[in-house]
Amino acid sequence: MLNNPPIIGLAGGIGSGKSTIAKLFNELGIQSVDADDVARQAVAIGTHCLTAIHLRYGDDILLDDGSLNRSLLRSIVFDNSDERKWLEQLTHPAIRKQLLEELNQATSPYVLMVHPLLFETGQNSQCQFTIAIDVPTSLQRVRVMNRDNTSEVNADKIIASQLSNDERLSKADFVLENTGNIIDLNGKVHRLHKEILELL
Ligand code: ADP
Repeated sequence: MLNNPPIIGLAGGIGSGKSTIAKLFNELGIQSVDADDVARQAVAIGTHCLTAIHLRYGDDILLDDGSLNRSLLRSIVFDNSDERKWLEQLTHPAIRKQLLEELNQATSPYVLMVHPLLFETGQNSQCQFTIAIDVPTSLQRVRVMNRDNTSEVNADKIIASQLSNDERLSKADFVLENTGNIIDLNGKVHRLHKEILELL
C-alpha cells in the first residue's frame, strides 16, 4: 500500500472535457482511471450487480445479448428516487472498490481519478488534490450535443443533475479552464502537471 501513487481527482460535468484532459495527462506519462468506465464494468455481464438488477426488473431490463439495457434502467430510476437509491446502494460499493483497486495499480508519479461526480459522491476525500474543469454551461451544452448527437433538453437534464460549475470550482484545489482550443488546453495541462509534481 505504501507505494500507491497519490490520487489527484479530476472533476467536471458531462462534456466539460474530462476525457480530453485525461488524455493530455496520459501523454505526460500520468495514468488515469475513469469512473464512468468502472461504472460500466460494474454492471457488465456476469457481475453480481447485473444479476440483482435482472432479478428486480425482469427480462425486459436485458438486451438480446444479455447485457444491460442502460437507457431503460436510466428511465426507470430517473423519476423514482426509491429505485435510484436501491440501484446506488447496489452499484456504488462495487464501483468504489474497483476504482480504488485500479488506482492502486498505477505506477506513475500520481494517478488521476476522472470522475463526473467526484464531490457529489464524497470521493474527493480519497484525493491528495482535486482539479475542477471550468466551462460555462452554454459551451458544455454545445459540446455534449455535438459529441452525443443529443437534444438540448437531454443535455440540460444531465447538466442539471450534477453540481454547478461554480460549486465545483469552489471545492477544488486547482481549476483548469477549458474554453480555448486544444493547444491552449495542452499548455495549461503542462503547467498544472509541473505544479503538482513540485507539490507532491
Ligand atoms: P467529458 O469526458 O467531460 O464528458 P469530453 O472530453 O468527451 O468531455 O469532451 C466533450 C466534447 O468536447 C468532446 O467531443 C471533445 O472532443 C470536445 N472538447 C473538449 N475540450 C475541447 C477543446 N478545448 N476544444 C474543442 N473541443 C473540445
